[in-house]
Amino acid sequence: MPIFHDTNHRTWSLLTGCVALTCALLGACAPPGPPPPLRGATMGTSYSVKVTALPATLSRADLQALVEQELQQVNAAMSTYDPASEISRFNRHQDDGWFSVGPDLAGIVMRARDIGARSGGAFDITVGPLVEAWGFGASGPRDLPPSGQELAAASAVIGIHRLLPRVEPPALRKSVAGLQIDLGAIAKGYGVDRIATALEAAGIDSYLVEIGGELRTRGRRHDGAMWRVGIEQPAPDGRRVQLALPMHRDGAVATSGDYRNFVETNGQRYAHIIDPRTGRPVDHRLASVTVIADNCETADAWATALSVLGTSEGYRIAEAEGLAALFIERDDDVFKETTTPAFDAWLSAANQSPQETENND
Ligand code: AMP
Ligand code: MG
Repeated sequence: MPIFHDTNHRTWSLLTGCVALTCALLGACAPPGPPPPLRGATMGTSYSVKVTALPATLSRADLQALVEQELQQVNAAMSTYDPASEISRFNRHQDDGWFSVGPDLAGIVMRARDIGARSGGAFDITVGPLVEAWGFGASGPRDLPPSGQELAAASAVIGIHRLLPRVEPPALRKSVAGLQIDLGAIAKGYGVDRIATALEAAGIDSYLVEIGGELRTRGRRHDGAMWRVGIEQPAPDGRRVQLALPMHRDGAVATSGDYRNFVETNGQRYAHIIDPRTGRPVDHRLASVTVIADNCETADAWATALSVLGTSEGYRIAEAEGLAALFIERDDDVFKETTTPAFDAWLSAANQSPQETENND
């Protein structure tokens, strides 16, 4: 079927003829650019996928279907917004026997427990009832902060030691009926990793995959330059870049902070990240934490864990764990950066990379 009817077709032919002539006169046209990014909505936020080139066997529609299929599988296991998901069914389950789940959910719970232990209990995927009590959950913001009684009731059903995962056969078990799992601090990173793995399986070796700001890159951009990740200045107004992080090798970057996600209750501002050790939203000058890791799940979970811990305790643990982390503290309008040795090493390796040296000349 023709796309243009006759008159338009003639105009189109004339136009393409002119473009071809101009190209011939100029010597050569610029090579075709990369395929436009794929975009969509997931996990209450947006995603984007940039690839340098599509393999001959894969159309843009195929790629979109591939990405959507991964996300659909992640949500079917881990979304607390979907009442039929595995996690929602487990959260409603009131008994203390083993509850069968898929290997993906059992696996992520295992790894989240491990980061919980290594962060001294700062990272805790059972914190949901406290998230809800402070007005960050599905029931939305509240006018007053929770009473001591409400906090005590929520605290009685949280604690990673009350959740037991099993890999073979995959299952979860809770020791108190009210225990809930909330993977909000790790699921975006996990989703990014799932998409990255699917792209690689489809033969794509250069990409940037991002869900809600958590991202992972591989290879180089279409023009051969390194991918660069803008780390935002942690201010609620506007979007200024604090640092353009060069991705001199494959890796993932995640940022966590209170600067955009908070509620105001009774005139007081509360961050959406809860310190499970106190039962209260974190309350320190730390505005954001960025972590670079090999995979995005790890970067996402640690960014949240270090946000709970704050700069001094967080720095100590990040350094001991060999994590590349950037802490940004806010003091009025001044942003103070603290970086771990692994983060500094990342930046200096990027500066020494041949391409970066060329760029800086
Ligand atoms: P992120 O944006 O990755 O830092 O994740 C923040 C989300 O993680 C919150 O909206 C809560 O759903 C959940 N959360 C809050 N505090 C914690 C915590 N201490 N450990 C694990 N998840 C948390
Ligand atoms: Mg996180």
